[in-house]
Amino acid sequence: MSFIFDDEQLAFQESARRFSREKVAPLYQQRERDGFIDRALVKEMGALGFIAPEMPEDLGGMAASSLTSGIIAEAISHGDINVGYINILSSLNCKILASYASPELKQEWVPKVVSGHAICAIALTEPRGGSDAANLSLSARRDGNRYILKGEKSSISMADQADIVVVFARTGTVESGAHGVSAFLVPMNTPGVSTLRFTDLGSKAIGRSSIFFDDVVVPLENRLADEGKGFVQVMQGFDFSRALIGLQVIASAQASLDETWAYIQERQAFGAPISKNQGVTFPLAEGETMLEAIRQLCYRTLSLKDANLPHTSEAAMCKWLAPKTSVDVIHQCLITHGHYGWSLDMPHQQRMRDVMGLEIGDGTAQIMKMIISREKLRQAKS
Ligand SMILES: Cc1cc2nc3c(=O)[nH]c(=O)nc-3n(C[C@H](O)[C@H](O)[C@H](O)COP(=O)(O)OP(=O)(O)OC[C@H]3O[C@@H](n4cnc5c(N)ncnc54)[C@H](O)[C@@H]3O)c2cc1C
Repeated sequence: MSFIFDDEQLAFQESARRFSREKVAPLYQQRERDGFIDRALVKEMGALGFIAPEMPEDLGGMAASSLTSGIIAEAISHGDINVGYINILSSLNCKILASYASPELKQEWVPKVVSGHAICAIALTEPRGGSDAANLSLSARRDGNRYILKGEKSSISMADQADIVVVFARTGTVESGAHGVSAFLVPMNTPGVSTLRFTDLGSKAIGRSSIFFDDVVVPLENRLADEGKGFVQVMQGFDFSRALIGLQVIASAQASLDETWAYIQERQAFGAPISKNQGVTFPLAEGETMLEAIRQLCYRTLSLKDANLPHTSEAAMCKWLAPKTSVDVIHQCLITHGHYGWSLDMPHQQRMRDVMGLEIGDGTAQIMKMIISREKLRQAKS
């Protein structure tokens, strides 16, 4: 299996990198101060085909490969990891909608997300916990041809900026576990929906919020997949987003590394550029090695997906190794900048905080290792 990029993918990479350099990177730190992602930028990304390009053409996409989505997510995240959330959330949610929404519902929403005219959040975590994700309690009570949602979701990225949200809710008994969970698409302006933002360490342009559902009426047509199949079917999309998150975070670390290679050739100590010291260059060379190895793992995972081959454990590997390594690499870059690195004016501290969030978001390293172990034990048995 090869994932050497073809001409079309290289063209996408080139145009996404240029856009990221010119439009995304310059406002990385400003977006943290603003606390939101500018909608005009999202629309521009949509117009250029940078959002969920893997969607079929009749839903506004370009039927591109998952590999292409990875290439774009990496390029955009190099400029701003937080703008990269648009790529990850859109690819994850559009896949869910395209696979499980009714024809009318997907026609209504997927083209809007792909074109950057709508943002879709995903709400799984609840106040009592996120790791044991199937053990959720937000209730969806059937009432004729509608459901009534009641309860709270917690820690939801972009909740207060999103137009719609994919919500996982309990339609079965508590004892039915994962088999009693259904998924719904809920417009954020539905009566009874409200949000409350957290004060976070990083990714402030994204923001996490609680979402409160106070007897929210959702039509039957907005249920995704069959009743009780929300968890078992819909969660499979997470393998895709985990490989994309891997690329999102290593891109942020790569941006710090790129800047640090330039800096060490300028900065003088003991009468010479500090780049003359192997004690300075070797940690960066190690960082380059680790990021490249993870990059290959992420693209291999996406290639497996494109070939319809199993990739659950590879996706979990991407998701735990990439954020952890990226935090370490950015930390090294910060230190290599000496006292300048410690300043809030420099981007490294922000990148470190932003990347660290994804050591938790979408599942922690422990949960990813549980997934890998489960897969390997199953394979060893068969
Ligand atoms: C930046 C960010 C963005 C997020 N965005 C979203 C979003 O958009 N939508 C959404 O639904 N959620 C989102 N989350 C929530 C996230 O998915 C959860 O925080 C995560 O799944 C962990 O759940 P928890 O915080 O409840 O930790 P807990 O489940 O309480 O776990 C606490 C600790 O115990 C460990 N642990 C738990 N069980 C085990 C076990 N069996 N073995 C070993 N260790 C274990 C965990 O690894 C963790 O370190 C986001 C979180 C962050 C930080």
